Amino acid sequence: MNLTTLEVLPEGLLNRSAQQLHEVLDGPTLIHLRGSTTAPLFVSVLLHGNETTGWEALRQLLLSYHHQELPRSLSLFIGNVAAAAEDVRHLPGQPDYNRIWSTGDTAEQQMMQSVIEQMRERGVFASIDLHNNTGRNPHYGCINRLEPAFLQLAKLFSHTVVFFTQPAEVQSMAFSNFCPAITVECGRPGEVNGITHALNFLQHCLKLSEIPTQPVTAEEIALFHTVATVKVPDTIEISFGTATGDLCLINELDQLNFQEIPAGTPFGRVCSDHLNHLEVWSESGQDVGDNFFTIQGGRLQTSKPVMPSMLTKDIEIIRQDCLCYLMERLEHT
Ligand SMILES: [Zn+2]
Repeated sequence: MNLTTLEVLPEGLLNRSAQQLHEVLDGPTLIHLRGSTTAPLFVSVLLHGNETTGWEALRQLLLSYHHQELPRSLSLFIGNVAAAAEDVRHLPGQPDYNRIWSTGDTAEQQMMQSVIEQMRERGVFASIDLHNNTGRNPHYGCINRLEPAFLQLAKLFSHTVVFFTQPAEVQSMAFSNFCPAITVECGRPGEVNGITHALNFLQHCLKLSEIPTQPVTAEEIALFHTVATVKVPDTIEISFGTATGDLCLINELDQLNFQEIPAGTPFGRVCSDHLNHLEVWSESGQDVGDNFFTIQGGRLQTSKPVMPSMLTKDIEIIRQDCLCYLMERLEHT
């Protein structure tokens, strides 16, 4: 598989939904469009094929500039076109396109290295990677460095900001080495307010002459740090709100996202003897499950105060990614 690089929009591109992009694109495509300021804004969409808000926002942005020059050059990367056609995160046998941005030998890793090299050479201004999630979450920005320019970029999108360093193979981490970079989470796919929010953010960034570098104060944003990832072993059968399978999670679990929940908060019931421990992977790669969850009398509950994010009821996403992330509030000045 090869990266396609273009300098114009393919005919009919902007008329197409994420699911239809494969009709005009062979695969992952990087398109450099010239604007009046040279250093390009980089925007990536559809690294996850079913997360369509980014494409919808980008398409509207480009349509709004159809008859006028862009205020700044724009390089757009349209990621997993084949998965988008099927409305899935990635196809069976494909890697997750937001876990292939570190160096490596696979065709996909080399393709992303080519994207990185091209953007480095062009003196990229800033990088925005647009995503959705499947559970109930606020809109928020994720950054991988706690530097003022990163916090300022995040503040332009949302009051809620998440700092993380794992997984390290994500797009925003790779771009953090040479420009301010952010991953934005725009709620669930198809929600109109998510598309509008993403569009406004893109428009704002495209018109910025520079990204402010003065420090962001503690009052301006709510900053959280992802400390661990919760995984359910593949062999464990999961259900929601019923008493079937090995792990029966509570139906309203995703209401706990971005809530500071106390120790003893129930997550569900263990309905068989196949599960005696939930995997919780720390940033340093240790399984610290026993620090965060206990199973007592068949009840799975938290054992210390935490704040989850990205809790989802979509079992395919739990399998492909995780049940949730656990966060702590981060003090900063
Ligand atoms: Zn995503």
